[in-house]
Amino acid sequence: MLSDVRGNGRLSVVVPCYNEQAVIATTHRRLVDVLAGLPAPDWEVLYVDDGSRDATLTLLRDIQARDPRVRVLSLSRNFGHQIAVSAGLEAAAGAAVVLIDADLQDPPELIPDMLARWRDGADVVYGERAARAGETRFKRLTASLFYRLINRISATPIPIDTGDFRLMDRRVVDAVLAMPERDRFLRGMVAWTGFRQEPIRYQRAARSAGESKYPLGRMLRFAADGLLSFSLVPLRLAVYMGLAASALALLGIVYALAMRLFTDIWVPGWTLLFIAVLFLGGVQLLALGVIGEYLGRVYWEVKRRPLYLVKERLGFDAPPEDKTA
Ligand code: UDP
Ligand code: MG
Repeated sequence: MLSDVRGNGRLSVVVPCYNEQAVIATTHRRLVDVLAGLPAPDWEVLYVDDGSRDATLTLLRDIQARDPRVRVLSLSRNFGHQIAVSAGLEAAAGAAVVLIDADLQDPPELIPDMLARWRDGADVVYGERAARAGETRFKRLTASLFYRLINRISATPIPIDTGDFRLMDRRVVDAVLAMPERDRFLRGMVAWTGFRQEPIRYQRAARSAGESKYPLGRMLRFAADGLLSFSLVPLRLAVYMGLAASALALLGIVYALAMRLFTDIWVPGWTLLFIAVLFLGGVQLLALGVIGEYLGRVYWEVKRRPLYLVKERLGFDAPPEDKTA
């Protein structure tokens, strides 16, 4: 019954691309090979050009001109991976949407399996990395630490070792699109929606060409976005530290009073005083910093700027929606 409803729907494949001129032609060929073999006759590939500064957009225009099942959404500048994916989700028409990176680290050959799971009733089928070839030990270690940390402190459990490679049912896509936040940690947002989510294990290949667009600084910011938008624990941590510091201070007071009342060596309390001042100063600054991180994010959210701006739309039949209406 379910498979009937889902069997006829369109499949959209959303591919964010930022400076991917080295791989995009290969990626497209491999995607089409897989999609052409699908039982679902109706599919579209939606490339989101995230303000590439190389020939990516030109190549995408060529690909689109040759294949009417290809759509290209070109953003007005580089908005970042998560926003590019959000733009693609918004433009996708499918009953199911697959997100896949442009660099072939995620094998398109997995799409038929994902589709089969969806037809069997799964609402989200997410790729779980069994191995990550071509990535440094450092990246693997930091990624694994990050997932362990976020799962300890996040209110929503977020699957370990997953990226954005996944298939989503229309209702999950709509739920994610209905979330107005600017800070978009998509894998967390998808996990938050619930429904039936199933992992599918795969070997993550090395990037087929070009280089990673996630240097260390960007990776750290991404990690901070994920942690702070899914957890209030860092704020609470400030409270715990404050409590601990106050408890210590209380001990200090008792000590100081005892020295004052029962001994005559109360003057040289300088060391204790010095440590207390330093310690409290440190805790306060840290707590302020944590509050500042959240406040900054609240500031971005209340501005309510559009998430992204589109420069060009190719292959979409309907005229572009008027988003200001
Ligand atoms: N990407 C993007 N905008 C950006 C950075 C990356 O659309 O600002 C795309 C990129 O083209 C690729 C995907 O996001 O398709 C993942 O990026 P990358 O492979 O560089 O990340 P990594 O796999 O190294 O974490
Ligand atoms: Mg990659």
